[in-house]
Amino acid sequence: MSTLDSGVWAAPGRVNLIGEHTDYCDGFVLPFALPYRTEVTAARLDRPEWTVSSSLTGETVTFDLSEPVTGWAAYVAGVVWALREAGYEVPGARLDLTSDVPGGAGLSSSAALECAVLSALVDLGGLDLPVPHRPKLAQRAENAYVGVPCGVMDQSASTLCREGHALFLDCRTMAVEHIPLDLAGQGLQILVVDSRAPHQLVDGEYAARRAACEKAAEILGLPALRDATLADLSRLDDPLLLRRARHVVTENDRVLATIELLRDGRIREIGPLLTSSHASMRDDFEITVPEVDTAVEAALAAGAYGARMTGGGFGGCVLALVDADRAAAVADAVGQAFAANGFRPPHCFPVTPAPGATRLS
Ligand code: ADP
Ligand code: MG
Repeated sequence: MSTLDSGVWAAPGRVNLIGEHTDYCDGFVLPFALPYRTEVTAARLDRPEWTVSSSLTGETVTFDLSEPVTGWAAYVAGVVWALREAGYEVPGARLDLTSDVPGGAGLSSSAALECAVLSALVDLGGLDLPVPHRPKLAQRAENAYVGVPCGVMDQSASTLCREGHALFLDCRTMAVEHIPLDLAGQGLQILVVDSRAPHQLVDGEYAARRAACEKAAEILGLPALRDATLADLSRLDDPLLLRRARHVVTENDRVLATIELLRDGRIREIGPLLTSSHASMRDDFEITVPEVDTAVEAALAAGAYGARMTGGGFGGCVLALVDADRAAAVADAVGQAFAANGFRPPHCFPVTPAPGATRLS
């Protein structure tokens, strides 16, 4: 593999059509990449040192991994660390970052950052790391170095997605199917509503949900909740664990049902699956907040085919499947509902499936 002196790489954020909190249960997810991405202009250095700047923070950080790196630069240091842990000789580099992925909104600016940096370092160093193996390495950076117990969905979406397609990913086998999602061809739009709800308790609550799922699988004697059926869940005595597990089991089923409809080109018909996914996150998994519940209700009342929170929860974004010519009315209705409840105005924007990580020059 040949090395490179410099270049520009990009990796996108993502929205998850359906399949929430299923990735770390070895289950199914269906994200697509956003037309918003993080770009990194990178140049190789002749010493094992990394200097990273971000237009977002206005900061420049230099590290050589002899000391722990904290703050936003930990996402970059984590990628270098994970590559080294996997036995790669990582080239030192200067990395300059820009991004238009909304941060901390559940659209995965963190994976966009990791995957852009990973692509750059792999190409600069001529490292033999096949694309299908990259998501797990980027996830390891976030899990083990940054300390966020996320599943593998975000890094997979940012790396593997194709334009015009959603990514059906089996998080156990990492098997991938690119599912065509021609929204415009059917006069449809997916509208994202960034609720701008302040994230609180996110990290602890996310970890608690993951722990509950692992506990439920252990009690059932299964490797992961991916292997559980609804009938199995009657063996869970703790009603809270039962509800948590029920979300995952029913959500996996909803992903598979969504895939079946999309394979048939019946996009409108996935609406009720999106809406029941939201109800499951609200009632069984308890990861929604009033802002996202309000956004879903207002979008449905204004004629959306379906709507759900997308991303890890406790704030963040909602997506709504709408007729393109109703999108503005739905966005207005959500804005009015927010005003009536005294919430900050939401940001509404349509999204289309964009490509995954790529070298730009
Ligand atoms: P999300 O992935 O949903 O956007 P996270 O909390 O997982 O939310 O990740 C957001 C964090 O990622 C930010 O707080 C910041 O530390 C880091 N980050 C993401 N993009 C950038 C960037 N372009 N520059 C600096 N830090 C970034
Ligand atoms: Mg993230």
